[in-house]
Amino acid sequence: MNFFYRHRVAFGFCAILTAVAFTFCICFFALSRTASETSRLVVVIDAGHGGIDGGVVGVETGKKESDINLSLSRILQDAFEEAGFYVIQTRPTEAGLYGMATNGYKKRDMMKRAEIIRESVPALVISVHQNFFSVRSRRGAQVFFRESSERSRLLACDIQASLNEMPECVKKTDALKGDYFVLNCSDYPSVIVECGFLSNPEDEALLVTVDYQKKIAAAILKGSVAFLTTATA
Ligand SMILES: [Zn+2]
Repeated sequence: MNFFYRHRVAFGFCAILTAVAFTFCICFFALSRTASETSRLVVVIDAGHGGIDGGVVGVETGKKESDINLSLSRILQDAFEEAGFYVIQTRPTEAGLYGMATNGYKKRDMMKRAEIIRESVPALVISVHQNFFSVRSRRGAQVFFRESSERSRLLACDIQASLNEMPECVKKTDALKGDYFVLNCSDYPSVIVECGFLSNPEDEALLVTVDYQKKIAAAILKGSVAFLTTATA
């Protein structure tokens, strides 16, 4: 082995050692970050609609449901994070999840939401929507669950009870069964919270304000914590 070759081998060996050490560090930090994330319960918040799908529209303000859903979902994220949860938003921006706005966009949007939910392995899934009905006097927050999921029913009942405690929620109601994709796409406890009716001027006037959105978020968090406390007791 000549001098030049020996040094080349030594250099090669050092390079490999450095690469291994570097990879180890990357893996270590990646793993330690994952460990701290997974030590917290994961909540998926699903802001309904988005992009070219604005959902329903407020009768007085013309506000799109998709914008109210997003604003409320961000407030809800803050509330859950302050309580120690790790939050994943399916739709963190105004954009829909369908890619190009071509044929089949709604299906692609829903499939993407399902993929995010399944990959998140969440303790809870909360889909945020606003309601609309032909009878303008209809008011109040309404929580939906999948009939075949007992845990989803319990979660829905706890959130509905918490929403019913709000003085602004004048129409007290029971949680309702619903056959919706976001409830059916996984077996994690999942609910749709229809926070109020954009077809009702009183509900709409409340729902467009950040103050009321904070109250709704606090009620959803309270109901969720009540469910988790009972579920793990
Ligand atoms: Zn909706």
